[in-house]
Amino acid sequence: MSHRSGDFSKILSKTESLMRELLDIPDNYKVMFLQGGGSAQFSAVPLNLIGLKPDRSADYIVTGTWSSKAAKEAEKYGKVNVVHPKQDGYTKIPDPSSWTLNPKASYVYYCCNETVHGVEFDFVPETDGVLLVSDMSSNFLSRPVDVSKFGLIFAGAQKNVGCAGVTVVIVREDLLGHALKECPIILDYKVQAENNSLYNTPPCFSIYIMCLVLEWIKNNGGSSAMEKLNRDKSSLIYDIIANSDGFYVCPVEPSCRSRMNVPFRLRTEEGDEALEKEFLDGAAKRGMISLKGHRSVGGIRASLYNAVTLQDTEALAAFMKEFKKQHF
Ligand SMILES: *Cc1c(COP(=O)(O)O)cnc(C)c1O
Repeated sequence: MSHRSGDFSKILSKTESLMRELLDIPDNYKVMFLQGGGSAQFSAVPLNLIGLKPDRSADYIVTGTWSSKAAKEAEKYGKVNVVHPKQDGYTKIPDPSSWTLNPKASYVYYCCNETVHGVEFDFVPETDGVLLVSDMSSNFLSRPVDVSKFGLIFAGAQKNVGCAGVTVVIVREDLLGHALKECPIILDYKVQAENNSLYNTPPCFSIYIMCLVLEWIKNNGGSSAMEKLNRDKSSLIYDIIANSDGFYVCPVEPSCRSRMNVPFRLRTEEGDEALEKEFLDGAAKRGMISLKGHRSVGGIRASLYNAVTLQDTEALAAFMKEFKKQHF
C-alpha cells in the first residue's frame, strides 16, 4: 500500500482525528507522526525551538534517565540550564520552589513519566509564560491532559499506544518555522507539518496499529477510563509494597510514584540480587515476563501500560504475596 494512496490517506486521517478527539487537541495545534523514536525528539526539540528567543537557551527539569539524555542532547544546540540543584538519585521531583527558571529561556522541558526510575509528574509545571515542552512517551493517553498548557508534547507509540516505529508530535502552530539552519530537513516540524507527515515515507504499518489502539481506547471509555484503570492497577502493586513489612522496597517518594512503571527491590534499597533473580524466574514460570528492572538500575520493574489488564496486574499481585510468604 503506497503511503500516498487513498487507502493509506484514510488511515492517516482517521488516526489523527481519533487522536484529536481522545486528547481534545485544540485546532491551533498540528499532530504529526514521525520516525526516530522519542530519542530523535531529544534533538528535534532544541533544533526547532531553542532559537525562538535571542538567548538561545532552554530550561530542563531532570528527573531521570530520559530527561537527562534530552538535556545532554540540547547542549549541542544552545545553553541548557538545569533548573534545580543536582539530585543524588532519581527518586523524586525536586520541589518547584527550588527551581530557578530563566524568563529568557526559549522553553522549559520535562519528562512527564520517567520510565526507568518510576517518577511521574501529577501536575503541570508552572513556567510563568515560558513555553512548555514535555516528553510523554511512557504515559501518553494513560490519562487526560490539557494540551493547551503546552507548546509541544511528544510520545513514542511503543509504550502506551502501539508498536515501535512512530512518534506522535503535537505542536502549537505558531512554533513552526523557527528551526536552526542546521536542522536536518526530516526533523523540521514546519516541513513535516506542511507535508501532513508525508515529507518522506512515514511508518505506515505502525500508524495503522496505532489507529487500532486509539479505537480500542475510545471504545473502552477514552483517556479518563484509562486514568482510572491505571490508578487501580498501580495502587494494587503499591499497596502490596506498602504492606510487605519492608520485604518489597520502592525507592520513589510516594507523591511522585509512577502509575506506569513501578520499580522495586527486595529486602533493602540496594536489593537482594539472588532473591530478585528467584523472583524473576518464578514470575517467568507463571508467564509474567519483562519484569526485570532497567539494566542501569537493576531490581524489578512492573510496567503497567494501557495494554496490561487489571487481571494481569492481579496475577502479579498474587505472585508477590505468595513470594513474600515463602521468603520473608
Ligand atoms: C522509551 C522512552 C524514550 C525513548 O524512546 P525511543 O523510541 O527508544 O527513542 C524517550 N522518553 C521516554 C520517557 C521513554 O520512555
